Amino acid sequence: MRRQQQSKPMRRCIACYTSYPQNELQRFTLVDGEIVPDTDGKNDGRGFYLCKKRECLDVAIKKKAFNRICKKNVDPDTIRQVVEKVLDNTKEAQ
Ligand SMILES: [Zn+2]
Repeated sequence: MRRQQQSKPMRRCIACYTSYPQNELQRFTLVDGEIVPDTDGKNDGRGFYLCKKRECLDVAIKKKAFNRICKKNVDPDTIRQVVEKVLDNTKEAQ
């Protein structure tokens, strides 16, 4: 007897800690200590996931979640710009 595998891999948002199917979250990776959006899911390295919405971006910034991931102080304005750009692109694609 074979048990059915869970159909979609679940990932957890760093802001709200809610698990969603991987494709509903935006993945980011750390490249040379900088946060880079992983738009095609092919970047190697340490990655994390965030909901595709501004609320979770705000929460993550407030919690200093990005500082923890990068293990350094991340400028909130810089990370906001990076993430919002991806969110805007995602919206247009839908
Ligand atoms: Zn979230």
